[in-house]
Amino acid sequence: MMTLSLLATISSIIVGLILIGGFLRSKYSPVKRFTSNSIENIKKAENEGNIEREGKYWTYTVKEYEGSIDEINVREKPSCADCKSPLERTRDNLVGLNKRVTIWECRECGEYYDYDEDEPRKIKETIRKEHS
Ligand SMILES: [Zn+2]
Repeated sequence: MMTLSLLATISSIIVGLILIGGFLRSKYSPVKRFTSNSIENIKKAENEGNIEREGKYWTYTVKEYEGSIDEINVREKPSCADCKSPLERTRDNLVGLNKRVTIWECRECGEYYDYDEDEPRKIKETIRKEHS
Protein backbone atom coordinates (compact mmCIF):
# COMPACT_ATOMS: atom_id res chain seq x y z
CA MET A 1 0.00 0.00 0.00
CA MET A 2 2.83 2.34 0.93
CA THR A 3 4.63 1.79 -2.39
CA LEU A 4 1.42 2.26 -4.38
CA SER A 5 0.59 5.64 -2.85
CA LEU A 6 4.24 6.64 -3.24
CA LEU A 7 4.07 5.68 -6.93
CA ALA A 8 0.85 7.66 -7.32
CA THR A 9 2.49 10.72 -5.77
CA ILE A 10 5.56 10.44 -7.99
CA SER A 11 3.49 9.94 -11.15
CA SER A 12 1.27 12.92 -10.34
CA ILE A 13 4.42 15.04 -9.86
CA ILE A 14 5.74 13.83 -13.24
CA VAL A 15 2.41 14.62 -14.95
CA GLY A 16 2.48 18.04 -13.31
CA LEU A 17 5.99 18.70 -14.58
CA ILE A 18 5.02 17.65 -18.10
CA LEU A 19 2.03 20.02 -18.04
CA ILE A 20 4.17 22.91 -16.75
CA GLY A 21 6.80 22.09 -19.37
CA GLY A 22 4.17 22.13 -22.10
CA PHE A 23 2.88 25.47 -20.88
CA LEU A 24 6.39 26.98 -20.85
CA ARG A 25 7.12 25.60 -24.28
CA SER A 26 3.97 27.11 -25.75
CA LYS A 27 4.58 30.52 -24.20
CA TYR A 28 8.33 30.84 -24.63
CA SER A 29 8.89 28.59 -27.58
CA PRO A 30 12.12 29.30 -29.49
CA VAL A 31 10.37 28.06 -32.63
CA LYS A 32 7.76 30.78 -32.32
CA ARG A 33 10.40 33.39 -31.63
CA PHE A 34 12.24 32.30 -34.76
CA THR A 35 9.08 32.63 -36.85
CA SER A 36 8.37 36.15 -35.66
CA ASN A 37 12.01 37.05 -36.37
CA SER A 38 11.70 35.94 -39.97
CA ILE A 39 8.51 37.99 -40.37
CA GLU A 40 10.53 40.95 -39.07
CA ASN A 41 13.14 40.20 -41.72
CA ILE A 42 10.53 40.28 -44.47
CA LYS A 43 9.34 43.68 -43.24
CA LYS A 44 12.92 44.96 -43.22
CA ALA A 45 14.79 45.12 -46.50
CA GLU A 46 18.27 46.34 -47.27
CA ASN A 47 19.21 47.06 -50.85
CA GLU A 48 22.52 48.13 -52.25
CA GLY A 49 22.68 50.37 -55.28
CA ASN A 50 25.03 52.49 -57.32
CA ILE A 51 24.70 55.97 -58.69
CA GLU A 52 26.99 57.76 -61.12
CA ARG A 53 27.59 61.45 -60.76
CA GLU A 54 30.21 63.63 -62.42
CA GLY A 55 32.43 60.69 -63.27
CA LYS A 56 32.29 59.22 -59.79
CA TYR A 57 30.54 56.03 -58.94
CA TRP A 58 28.91 55.90 -55.51
CA THR A 59 27.70 52.87 -53.65
CA TYR A 60 24.83 53.19 -51.23
CA THR A 61 22.50 51.08 -49.15
CA VAL A 62 18.84 51.76 -48.55
CA LYS A 63 17.28 50.21 -45.49
CA GLU A 64 13.53 49.88 -45.73
CA TYR A 65 10.98 49.06 -43.10
CA GLU A 66 7.50 48.01 -44.21
CA GLY A 67 8.10 49.49 -47.64
CA SER A 68 9.25 52.95 -46.61
CA ILE A 69 12.80 54.26 -46.30
CA ASP A 70 14.30 53.87 -42.87
CA GLU A 71 17.90 54.79 -43.56
CA ILE A 72 20.17 55.66 -46.51
CA ASN A 73 23.91 55.27 -46.29
CA VAL A 74 26.26 56.54 -48.97
CA ARG A 75 29.79 55.16 -48.88
CA GLU A 76 32.19 58.04 -48.32
CA LYS A 77 34.65 56.62 -50.79
CA PRO A 78 33.46 56.69 -54.43
CA SER A 79 34.84 54.64 -57.30
CA CYS A 80 35.96 55.64 -60.76
CA ALA A 81 32.98 55.46 -63.12
CA ASP A 82 35.21 54.16 -65.94
CA CYS A 83 37.08 51.28 -64.29
CA LYS A 84 35.21 50.96 -60.97
CA SER A 85 38.38 51.06 -58.87
CA PRO A 86 38.10 52.93 -55.60
CA LEU A 87 39.30 56.53 -55.75
CA GLU A 88 42.04 57.67 -53.41
CA ARG A 89 42.07 61.05 -51.80
CA THR A 90 45.08 63.21 -52.66
CA ARG A 91 46.46 66.01 -50.51
CA ASP A 92 45.31 68.63 -53.00
CA ASN A 93 42.43 70.97 -52.40
CA LEU A 94 40.69 73.47 -54.62
CA VAL A 95 41.23 76.79 -52.93
CA GLY A 96 39.24 80.00 -53.33
CA LEU A 97 35.88 78.28 -53.07
CA ASN A 98 33.34 78.63 -50.32
CA LYS A 99 32.87 74.92 -50.05
CA ARG A 100 35.50 72.34 -49.32
CA VAL A 101 36.58 70.51 -52.45
CA THR A 102 39.35 67.95 -52.42
CA ILE A 103 41.01 66.17 -55.32
CA TRP A 104 40.65 62.42 -55.63
CA GLU A 105 42.60 60.18 -57.94
CA CYS A 106 41.94 56.96 -59.83
CA ARG A 107 45.25 55.12 -59.72
CA GLU A 108 44.13 52.79 -62.52
CA CYS A 109 43.22 55.47 -65.09
CA GLY A 110 45.34 58.29 -63.71
CA GLU A 111 42.26 60.52 -63.72
CA TYR A 112 41.62 63.22 -61.13
CA TYR A 113 38.23 64.11 -59.76
CA ASP A 114 36.80 66.97 -57.74
CA TYR A 115 35.23 65.80 -54.54
CA ASP A 116 32.83 68.18 -52.89
CA GLU A 117 32.66 67.29 -49.20
CA ASP A 118 28.93 67.87 -49.46
CA GLU A 119 28.48 65.31 -52.23
CA PRO A 120 27.56 62.24 -50.15
CA ARG A 121 24.78 64.28 -48.54
CA LYS A 122 23.51 65.51 -51.94
CA ILE A 123 23.51 61.97 -53.29
CA LYS A 124 21.58 60.85 -50.25
CA GLU A 125 18.92 63.47 -51.06
CA THR A 126 18.76 62.34 -54.70
CA ILE A 127 18.27 58.73 -53.65
CA ARG A 128 15.60 59.71 -51.14
CA LYS A 129 13.68 61.57 -53.88
CA GLU A 130 13.98 58.62 -56.26
CA HIS A 131 12.60 56.21 -53.69
CA SER A 132 9.70 58.31 -52.50
ZN1 LIG B 1 39.55 54.55 -63.28
